[in-house]
Amino acid sequence: MTEKIIILSDGRSRPPLIPATLVPATGELRDGLARPLHDLRISITDRCNFRCVYCMPKDVFDKDYQYLPHSSLLTFEEITRIARQFVAHGVEKIRLTGGEPLLRKNIEKLIAMLAELRTVHGKPLDLTLTTNGSLLARKAQSLKDAGLNRVTVSLDAMDDATFRAMNDVDFAVADVLHGIDTAHAVGLGPIKVNMVVKAGTNEQEILPMARHFKGTPHILRFIEFMDVGASNGWNMQDVIPSAEIVRRIGAELPLVPVDPNYTGETAARWRYVDGGGEIGAISSVTQAFCKDCSRARLSTEGKLYTCLFATRGHDLRALLRAGHNDAELSGAIAAIWQGRSDRYSELRTVNTDGLARAGERRVEMSYIGG
Ligand code: SAM
Ligand code: SF4
Ligand code: SF4
Repeated sequence: MTEKIIILSDGRSRPPLIPATLVPATGELRDGLARPLHDLRISITDRCNFRCVYCMPKDVFDKDYQYLPHSSLLTFEEITRIARQFVAHGVEKIRLTGGEPLLRKNIEKLIAMLAELRTVHGKPLDLTLTTNGSLLARKAQSLKDAGLNRVTVSLDAMDDATFRAMNDVDFAVADVLHGIDTAHAVGLGPIKVNMVVKAGTNEQEILPMARHFKGTPHILRFIEFMDVGASNGWNMQDVIPSAEIVRRIGAELPLVPVDPNYTGETAARWRYVDGGGEIGAISSVTQAFCKDCSRARLSTEGKLYTCLFATRGHDLRALLRAGHNDAELSGAIAAIWQGRSDRYSELRTVNTDGLARAGERRVEMSYIGG
């Protein structure tokens, strides 16, 4: 049984220091390991209508669970103001996530505000969102109209009983597939479909998922079950390495590797030899990709995390609400990124069994955003 843990957010975050000399935003920011800042993931709610066993297990996220109060959440104006500073420092892609982002009221308004931002090269952002698909059929058109470019949809099985057991709220596969079809029809593609593979739980669904999405315009990506957070009872034995996933699929549906689209892409790409499209394999446990990690994460209450596995964030909301101006906010973000040296997955790979840091508890995926 999972240990009962009520800590979701991170009480140790502090407001960042405003450096005496502010680094101007040139779009060329580099961290301590020379990695650029290209990608911003924004968690817009810590709530979710699913209880995926690997993310928000019911025995922890039960009816007594204390979610963040509305006043703690960044407002759309605050999110956009912070995002603008990140874009000036080089961010070209913004992903909205959570929790379940489509539960955030008036999300279309936020999308419209973010869609107005321009990269340092004067181009529109790559604006995307990760969703469990439950509200997608209903919202796809309004999301598209607001300026969203595309969506990633999570789906862990084709078999209805397996999927219902994994989301643990009895949600049907057919309804997620309907969401995917609707999103495709309104032009929110190319759609990526994420499947988290947990040994002994849904590994028998690897091939049915591959068969279903082969020959469609959608890109299926297999994600290794990660030791993110502290409530999902992670164990290395629960991880099916991506190499094994690709081997199992390739034995029936031959695959060849494809070059990455860009440096820092999380998924290794493979295409079907017969022209049936491509799949991705996200090996966050067995083949760490920290070397090129250009992702920053902004939590629901405005804390900046420089790694998915961070135990401590930087409280940007405190700067905003204390009245600091954009130049100070931008300078604080630059200093944080320049001081970044995170490479948790690489270190974990060396240790293979997760990195338990005494007295430190990693923040949950539903809080920091996947
Ligand atoms: N609720 C949305 C969803 O499920 O798509 C967005 C948030 S969810 C935290 C983002 C992604 O993280 C999902 O694709 C989910 O499957 C993945 N995820 C959650 N917990 C995970 C874990 N322990 N290991 C690997 N992936 C995980
Ligand atoms: Fe909710 Fe997404 Fe986590 Fe599942 S993976 S519980 S849908 S936030
Ligand atoms: Fe990036 Fe941290 Fe993941 Fe490494 S472990 S790829 S630094 S988020």
